[in-house]
Amino acid sequence: MNADGTDRHVVIVGGGISGLAAAHAVRAALPGVRITVVEESERLGGALLTGELGGATVETGADNWLARVPEATGLAEAVGLGGELVAPATGRAWVLVRDRLRPLPAGTVRGVPARLGPLARSRVLSPRGLVRASVEPWLPGRPVTEPVTVGDLVARRLGRQVVDRLVDPLLGGVYAGSADALDLDAAAPDLAALARSRRSLVRAARARAAAATPDTAPVFLTVNGGLSTLVAAVAAAARVEVLTRTRAATVERLSGAFRVTLAGGRALIADGVVVATPGRSAARLLELVAPAAAPPLRDLAYASVALVGLAYPSGALRLPEGSGVLVPAGRRLVKAVTFYSQKWPRSTLPGTTLLRASVGRAGEPVDLDDAELVAAVHTELGQLFSTTKQPVDAFVARWDDALPQYALGHLSRVDAIEAAVGAVPGLAVAGAAYRGVGIAACVRSGNAAAARVAAHVRARG
Ligand SMILES: Cc1cc2nc3c(=O)[nH]c(=O)nc-3n(C[C@H](O)[C@H](O)[C@H](O)COP(=O)(O)OP(=O)(O)OC[C@H]3O[C@@H](n4cnc5c(N)ncnc54)[C@H](O)[C@@H]3O)c2cc1C
Repeated sequence: MNADGTDRHVVIVGGGISGLAAAHAVRAALPGVRITVVEESERLGGALLTGELGGATVETGADNWLARVPEATGLAEAVGLGGELVAPATGRAWVLVRDRLRPLPAGTVRGVPARLGPLARSRVLSPRGLVRASVEPWLPGRPVTEPVTVGDLVARRLGRQVVDRLVDPLLGGVYAGSADALDLDAAAPDLAALARSRRSLVRAARARAAAATPDTAPVFLTVNGGLSTLVAAVAAAARVEVLTRTRAATVERLSGAFRVTLAGGRALIADGVVVATPGRSAARLLELVAPAAAPPLRDLAYASVALVGLAYPSGALRLPEGSGVLVPAGRRLVKAVTFYSQKWPRSTLPGTTLLRASVGRAGEPVDLDDAELVAAVHTELGQLFSTTKQPVDAFVARWDDALPQYALGHLSRVDAIEAAVGAVPGLAVAGAAYRGVGIAACVRSGNAAAARVAAHVRARG
């Protein structure tokens, strides 16, 4: 082999953003290598899928990435989309509390306030809830050392209302899961860092805010044309051979190489393999080659959600300024609403107002059919935003078993999975199942998997 990987073959199972990022990084490390991406569905992108609503471009899956984690922006730049980055036009958000919209207080860490003034002014908490939260800096206790759920920690320190009205809706927006079930270190590492540094979360958040340099950079980013544009650009830049509608069934190690057997019996022989699929699928794929990795992956639970897009004639709804509303758990079907045309005005046609609602979360699967979902979401949004007009266009996008739930102890299970996989030279895993569900975290995991596999392929000579 030449140093650039000519005559070598890397197989990536899973054509979501994690697998594609891995492919791109393998290509950068080994320009001459052959790369095959095996993808079960009919398209690349996984949870990234741009569609259309009311004649405009909208995301029917993930909406944007967190810019603070640099890897997704780095990938977009590396594939030539650096000039196409777009930030939301507004970041202001609301919380629905007892049927009233309250502003999400600024300057919180996952809903934990650094200052009590903005929290009090937002009126998100009741007077009693505010008093309870206000005593936190003086409560006894020690910095957290043991594993704990996000909800447990915050309820103990700041009271139940801060969990129910701030932390849970914010975390729910990312994981579609409950703060009471999500592991602090895995699901909210920034909050975990505060909890491990000081006894008081509020004081720790305040110290962090004081130490931070003022930053006007956008919090979220996407690319013009939507995330499917990014997917296509990454696949093209990585020069991958793509096998869509193809499920990989098993991965085995054969005297120094790998055999990836596809459903139907055909096999690919590879020098390195990245498994970039969700938990249960990864468990099946790894069963023969890294058996100890399979049980924790099999046990990883997932939440199913549906996104419902509705287009209304302009002026039909009374929307407040801002990018959307978080809806605390309760009787309502809708868990969050994005004011899509206000968040992304450049992608909206004049004359229409676009809303995108999120439905379902862990333990609450979506059991309505598409027509029922559209009708139910329209009814809830109609009440909230005072409309009697019918939507002129709609879509329903279902994301079944799409969001992993990082339960208590998640990171030690990931350590065990990575140790089992790491014992097999040339094999790596990537994806939302491990150390972060966001697009940026997935790109990071793809890059790390690629580095491992490329180093092995290069060392084989
Ligand atoms: C509705 C929704 C909204 C979201 N919004 C945001 C957001 O705004 N910002 C953000 O940062 N993150 C968001 N996320 C999270 C983020 O988009 C995902 O965590 C991320 O895209 C997952 O990427 P992945 O490549 O790890 O997995 P996936 O996207 O799930 O891709 C895995 C791929 O593997 C394929 N596959 C599975 N098994 C096999 C097999 N045996 N053989 C071959 N192929 C297989 C699947 O078909 C799939 O295409 C959202 C997620 C969802 C579901």
